[in-house]
Amino acid sequence: MLPVIALVGRPNVGKSTLFNYLTRSREALVADYPGLTRDRQYGRVKRGKRDCLVVDTGGIADDGNGIEGFARKQVETALQEADVVFFMVDARAGLSASDQEIADTLRKLDKPVVLVANKIDGINADLACADFYDMALGEPVQIAASHGRGVKELLARIDALL
Ligand code: GDP
Ligand code: MG
Repeated sequence: MLPVIALVGRPNVGKSTLFNYLTRSREALVADYPGLTRDRQYGRVKRGKRDCLVVDTGGIADDGNGIEGFARKQVETALQEADVVFFMVDARAGLSASDQEIADTLRKLDKPVVLVANKIDGINADLACADFYDMALGEPVQIAASHGRGVKELLARIDALL
């Protein structure tokens, strides 16, 4: 069983964009892995040391509790099988109440969390990311998933965690 990275975060932060970037190789799509639920999209991430699986939680249907309930449910379901969590936030939008709620859930869990600040292309990234430190989840890794910027550094961050 390969280690599993779960991509969590409120809608529109760029989870699927990062998923697509991480799994862009031809053999990336994972048809079936025992023990994993099938209502989420899995892909294989090629890494120097050890491949891993990444799961995009965005495909889960809205359960009717609105965006907050939806975000919370994504976190809960993906976390059950995750070895590492990539918690994505939007550097352009800044820190939101939904981010804070997800952060609250993540802080209570005994799984490593990497805070990922996406969409730093064309903005002052350090300034845009300053508020994210309030969540007490460590230093955000700054990326632009649509350009692949920072993704190498992001994967390097999990070497010590897997
Ligand atoms: P998800 O809902 O979290 O899966 O978010 P998506 O991956 O669907 O992305 C939401 C929107 O953000 C799309 O319009 C993407 O093109 C855009 N987006 C994603 N990554 C980046 C980025 O690095 N920079 C910019 N400027 N836009 C991005
Ligand atoms: Mg998505």
